[in-house]
Amino acid sequence: MSAFVYTAHPSRVVFGRGTLAGLRDEVARLGASRALMLSTPEQADQVARLATQLGSLCCGTYSKARMHTPVDVTLDAIAVAQALQADCLVSMGGGSTIGLGKAIALRTDLPQIAIPTTYAGSEATPILGETEAGVKKTQTSPKILPEVILYDVELTLTLPVPLTITSGINAIAHAVEGLYSQQANPVIGLIAEEGIRALVSALPRAAAAPHDREARSDALYGAWLCGTTLGAVGMALHHKLCHSLGGTFNLPHAETHTVILPHALAYNAPFIPDALTRIARATGSNDAPLALYDLARTLGAPISLKALGMPREGLERIVELTFANPYWNPAPLDEARLRGLLERAWSGAPPVSD
Ligand code: NAD
Repeated sequence: MSAFVYTAHPSRVVFGRGTLAGLRDEVARLGASRALMLSTPEQADQVARLATQLGSLCCGTYSKARMHTPVDVTLDAIAVAQALQADCLVSMGGGSTIGLGKAIALRTDLPQIAIPTTYAGSEATPILGETEAGVKKTQTSPKILPEVILYDVELTLTLPVPLTITSGINAIAHAVEGLYSQQANPVIGLIAEEGIRALVSALPRAAAAPHDREARSDALYGAWLCGTTLGAVGMALHHKLCHSLGGTFNLPHAETHTVILPHALAYNAPFIPDALTRIARATGSNDAPLALYDLARTLGAPISLKALGMPREGLERIVELTFANPYWNPAPLDEARLRGLLERAWSGAPPVSD
């Protein structure tokens, strides 16, 4: 056994079907009595129903959460929280809503209960990405990590199939990079491999029958494991490329991860034999990059940056950005190989490890 460092991030996790019924108890357990409930505009009705269920323990709702956590929205939400004398936050939704809760908590230290309804995994990380003046910056702090995660499988039944697939593959990407991370360690290795296995098995079943509670349950379990991996170890080429692509060309988050993952894994493949064996085992295939490409393709998810609206001329900007801000990656950063990766991802060709 090689030497390693493992940092566990403490949070209470309640997982199951119908767990929302226990929300009042979770608020009281935090010693709170005035919860501010957060959501996107699209989930405002859902959070309003939950507010009714919370009754006197809810002081109000704020439903203006947006993708990429704009700082002006956070400051507006803090003013509302202060006016209502909120003493805890309940964030119900995907990474956008949970990001808003984290951004408020970072500035106010209010405790958070996250109720995830996608597979993005943000609830399990002490990481916050925020946007100000068009620039997205990422930071890490223990204050950002939600105190409680309430997973209720019932809430994921309405997740549209296209978002189910891309959000699930976004989660798989956390675990894939976690297995070859610079901080990889045996505990996270177990969590990451099981996370990939659970999602690869669940996504085709959830796509075929969105109300299949077993499939949804396995997918949400996998998403938690993959989010835990993201929160515990550093990421590499795949996440950096997606960050540059999303930030520069405003590409959709989960879809961009879905397109890039097989290509980033193929790029690193010759340098990560142990991780590759584990990813192959978790995907049930001898060719892990191709298995992930086929998973997206057969389930009808986007497989090209072209389909996401990325201009081909933009690829060179991503190469420039990669070399302007170099970072650790298991395979050395090589211009010709990177161009090949981006060209294939742009056109939708299968991954190649040359
Ligand atoms: P999202 O939160 O933007 O949700 C997408 C849309 O789907 C929203 O309109 C939302 O209201 C709706 N939706 C969510 N769940 C639903 C459900 N069950 N039924 C019906 N509609 C539903 O998307 P996302 O992919 O979950 O999150 C993306 C954001 O999260 C990005 O900003 C990304 O940077 C961030 N993120 C952060 C971390 C982290 O650790 N900091 C990790 C992953 C993602």
